[in-house]
Amino acid sequence: MADLTNVDWKEFPKDAAPLDKVSKNFKLYELTKSEVAARRDIDNSFRTVQQLRAAVYLCRHVLQPVRDKFGKFSPNSVYRSQALERALKGKPASWTSTSQHTMGQACDIEIPGITTMGLAEWIQKNLEFDQLILECYNPELGSNSGWAHVSLRPPGAANNRGRVLSYIRDPAEGKFVYVDGLRESAVA
Ligand SMILES: [Zn+2]
Repeated sequence: MADLTNVDWKEFPKDAAPLDKVSKNFKLYELTKSEVAARRDIDNSFRTVQQLRAAVYLCRHVLQPVRDKFGKFSPNSVYRSQALERALKGKPASWTSTSQHTMGQACDIEIPGITTMGLAEWIQKNLEFDQLILECYNPELGSNSGWAHVSLRPPGAANNRGRVLSYIRDPAEGKFVYVDGLRESAVA
């Protein structure tokens, strides 16, 4: 296990090992791990060094500050290969995902004992991001329901837009919809 905490993200080595440290509290394997990939034997390793380095940048600027504030957790999902995206979303081999997860530029976070809304509000106030999406939060299912999706583009990519959305169930439409801002309900 190597401590690569002080290696510049732009020079992060493509051959780094799964247990190598990316930041104070996160190891490289946490940026590619996926229960679904493990269960279905899907290769979810980084395909390009750009994806790897974007995920390292995201880890240091989103995951680590959240860890410093709220305590121990491991992200639900960071990088997702196209094969994993297709498996998760039930799409055919011809389909290509445009999710920022496929670029190593997004993570999904939920923290035991912390309300998902509180987590999202803290991220909104304290961190730089491209998109912050409160996903599938439903207070009726508990304040820890859902997760915060946070994307961040590294320097040299397009600008970070600082967009804040909620992806929640609209009872009128009977399906999930995107609405502006951090919201508990699609009904105003
Ligand atoms: Zn996500």
